[in-house]
Amino acid sequence: METDKKVTINDLITQCKTYLHKDKNIEIIEKAYEFAKKYHEGQFRKSGDPYIQHPLEVAYMISQYEASPQTVCAGLLHDVLEDTEATKEDIINEFGEDIYSIVDGVTKISKLKYMTKERALAKTHQKILLAMAKDIRVVLVKLLDRVHNMRTLMYQSEEKQVRISQETLDLYAPLAHRLGMYRIKAELEDTAFKYINPQEYERITKVLYDQKDARNEDIENMKSQISQILSDSNIKTFEIKGRIKNIFSINKKMTNKGLTMEQIYDFMALRVIVPTIADCYMAMGLIHAHYNPLPGRFKDYIATPKPNLYQSLHTTVLGIGGKIFEIQIRTFDMDAVAEYGIAAHYNYKESNSSYTPAKEQEELSTKLKWYHDLLGYVESDDNDEDPLNNIKEDIFSASVYVFTPKGDVLDFPNGSTPLDFAYRVHTEVGNHTVGAIVNGRIVNLTYRLKTGDIVEIKTNKNFNGPSESWLKIVKTSHAKNKIGNVLNKRMRDELVLAGKDDFERELKLENEVLKLDDKLIKDNFSKSNIFSIEDFYYEIGKGTMSSKAAINKLLCKNEKVTEDTIIKHYEDKKDIIHHHNNDSVIYVEGLPKAQVKLANCCCPVYGDEITGYVSKGNGIVVHRAECHNIKNSQEERFIDVYWDDAAKTKTYNSILYIYSFDRRNIVAEMINIVNGINNVNISSMSSSKDRNGELVTKMKITVNSIDTINLVKVNLKKISDVYKVSRIIK
Ligand code: MN
Repeated sequence: METDKKVTINDLITQCKTYLHKDKNIEIIEKAYEFAKKYHEGQFRKSGDPYIQHPLEVAYMISQYEASPQTVCAGLLHDVLEDTEATKEDIINEFGEDIYSIVDGVTKISKLKYMTKERALAKTHQKILLAMAKDIRVVLVKLLDRVHNMRTLMYQSEEKQVRISQETLDLYAPLAHRLGMYRIKAELEDTAFKYINPQEYERITKVLYDQKDARNEDIENMKSQISQILSDSNIKTFEIKGRIKNIFSINKKMTNKGLTMEQIYDFMALRVIVPTIADCYMAMGLIHAHYNPLPGRFKDYIATPKPNLYQSLHTTVLGIGGKIFEIQIRTFDMDAVAEYGIAAHYNYKESNSSYTPAKEQEELSTKLKWYHDLLGYVESDDNDEDPLNNIKEDIFSASVYVFTPKGDVLDFPNGSTPLDFAYRVHTEVGNHTVGAIVNGRIVNLTYRLKTGDIVEIKTNKNFNGPSESWLKIVKTSHAKNKIGNVLNKRMRDELVLAGKDDFERELKLENEVLKLDDKLIKDNFSKSNIFSIEDFYYEIGKGTMSSKAAINKLLCKNEKVTEDTIIKHYEDKKDIIHHHNNDSVIYVEGLPKAQVKLANCCCPVYGDEITGYVSKGNGIVVHRAECHNIKNSQEERFIDVYWDDAAKTKTYNSILYIYSFDRRNIVAEMINIVNGINNVNISSMSSSKDRNGELVTKMKITVNSIDTINLVKVNLKKISDVYKVSRIIK
């Protein structure tokens, strides 16, 4: 229906009656019309038409797709929630939950803020749109709503024409393409193109028009020749059509392939439609037998359908008069899918007497499984990416999209909770969360977020923060890390207090008096990375240093208790300490010439707290004190080791694991930051995504000391979206 003739309610009813035969189905459509007309009373379109004309046109197009009466009703009602006084309750009371849910879905999509400035986000928007729509009926209504709005765009201001056309090209045409709705896609693209590039549009349509007669003759001749060829064979029923020209795609071909209009238009197009798949291949063989096929142009989309279910054989041949013809061959069913896409599978079957909403739901969900897979195709199917990868990734990181009260969209891995949301908004919001409100109702913090939810977080400044149990509730590693930080900090605070108690008790027992300050501590313990009183108490609280040893050291009562231990090691391990290592950066007390090696697992660097481990046959291997690999090793094999003065001038290998969100340019930012720091070199880097779609970057660097590593860590954490930098993998 591309004429100027305005659709009337009688046209709609007549069209519906071609496939709906039950009175109640027609009655509810009439009722929806009266309802919408009443609520839109007094409203007008920019064209001057009463508003009801718009939903009427949309409903009419829906009925041409032979959609269910519910969908036709939703088409009539699609603007009443947004633009009139009608309420959710009004619609549910009059038409039931099902029709309401379609109208609600369409309304929600319309509210989605789309910013043309951020074209890069178009793919995300397409995904959000699909995820929100879920129900194919919602997409159908929304796409046809857009078709009618594009048809009447001439009544809008120039600014609006361009903005809406751009949105149509970025969002709705690709959506129609992804769903295989070729007709809608072509119309949306061509209309939008007319407003965005009027000169080029004019030029192409003019060439098309001027050559129409000559071309029509060629096409007609070719058609009758092929008809004759098929009639002479066993294929008795067939149809041959010329093809609809998509002006936008002609222009795209010209710009992408650097071809002229004439070069593209030289290709004439025919479509041959036959009853069965076997007929398709037979027709192909017959055509190739009569006309020379151009090499490399044959494509079998019957054996391997496109992701949007498109099936067809494509070939290009030299036809009559040496002219080039592109020929598509397919069955009648395939042709319906190619024109109407997913909607061709969805036409409503009234004859099914056992129809129930539950049955429809079941039928829908089997389709939705397929539909869900389709969501994985973020890119158009023209690229060479492996579509299977897309599907896999989509299943693993299936996302939900939720709204902030301001209408911003945030995406989360499936299974996320309001706490994940809270930590994404801000760490302080997360730490002070006391409750959550979803869609206006209070929910438990374990509630699983669903696409389309509007989430609001209740905080209380006096709330004392997360507990251990929160770690089990949250889904994102981001939130887990933030909660872990608070818990660690809290544990540290407790250990500091315990260490202080212990130290003071010991001091009393020894009958000593000591006035501690940060400088005194630093002077005595900086070699062990203890720089403040707090650090000092913390080490005692943890048990890595005894109060007694600390007091001895501070009072210079340090006796050489370690000598015996070393000699014992010497006795045990005579064989390994004959090796000399003059280049050593490690000093082993009592054994200046010992063979020493830095462990590869934890990569100690100058300044790290270290411990020596007497290995079997490998000399003394120096690990970082916190290395997991030596946690359960035999105690008698440990030996005290220290950094030698020579260690200050050497460089060391180290590995950092950087945890972040996966966004554009983040790895480049990491490299820039690290390159800006003195005494660091990046030797290699690799990034991978974890199950939640978050990025883990492994960076190998060479540094001269722990101070440099700390500097690198602090600076990397300043990058927004980096939330953890660690020397060990979590
Ligand atoms: Mn509308």
